[in-house]
Amino acid sequence: MLTRFAPSPTGELHLGHAYSAALAHAAARAVGGRLRLRIDDIDGSRSREDYVAAALADLAWLGIEWDGAPVRQSGHLDAYAAALADLRIRELVYPCFCTRADIAQSLAAPHGPSGTIYPGTCRHRSAQERARRMAGEPHCWRLDTARAVALAGEIRWDEEGRGSRLANPAAHGDVVLARKDAPASYHLASVLDDAAMGVTHVVRGADLVAATDIHRLLQAVLGLPTPFYRHHALVCGADGKRLAKRDAAASLATLRDAGVDGPALAVDLVAGRLPTGYSLRMP
Ligand code: GLU
Repeated sequence: MLTRFAPSPTGELHLGHAYSAALAHAAARAVGGRLRLRIDDIDGSRSREDYVAAALADLAWLGIEWDGAPVRQSGHLDAYAAALADLRIRELVYPCFCTRADIAQSLAAPHGPSGTIYPGTCRHRSAQERARRMAGEPHCWRLDTARAVALAGEIRWDEEGRGSRLANPAAHGDVVLARKDAPASYHLASVLDDAAMGVTHVVRGADLVAATDIHRLLQAVLGLPTPFYRHHALVCGADGKRLAKRDAAASLATLRDAGVDGPALAVDLVAGRLPTGYSLRMP
């Protein structure tokens, strides 16, 4: 059994991160498995080194020990590029030149489980037009989801405690796999890294259930193994809303400075006992 905690160093960790990390840690330790730490740092404009250092300090304060050296997504760009090249050769991705404004203006852009569904404007461009525009225009790469679904057939995953679930990637439309400003999207990078790291159990927030639809599809078309998933409840503040990076009071640095006992907090979180004013909620 191998699981991972994979923070994005784009802000300070808060109680929600602590809950996720503590659950993953406890799940691994309960069966003699391993916990790896992965730093999801491919968003060059938002990732910061001081947040990486802060995350390591927060986890140490909680008494959460990980196995091996932390893994950095920024060290895996070649693997992401190779997978994208493979998908290009198989015509499972296409270049998209649309701006956010183009997509927002399209009347045919309904909302799906993970935001606006791309209306497919660039899906049918000719090879000549693509080649010409790719030479000079910024573009991202989108999955041709219908084509990938046709290839993959019915796909499912095992959700801890809930049995087999049917993935519905078609509901998301043609998601971005490589961005204009980043070599891989969260979806592509996460799926490739989970496989490369030998992750057998993914423990993460239930806000990412929708992402699992897409992750299962990518695993299927890329020939990658399927981990077990546990999508846990989200930590909410007094307003009943899930914590965000801006909720300074719930930041682990604030709790630490206030003299909270980190390891005791981690034990409490695993047991579902939250500090006063916080609650767990399934989205
Ligand atoms: N870096 C991602 C996040 O913080 C990881 C999500 C996941 O566990 O797959 O949301």
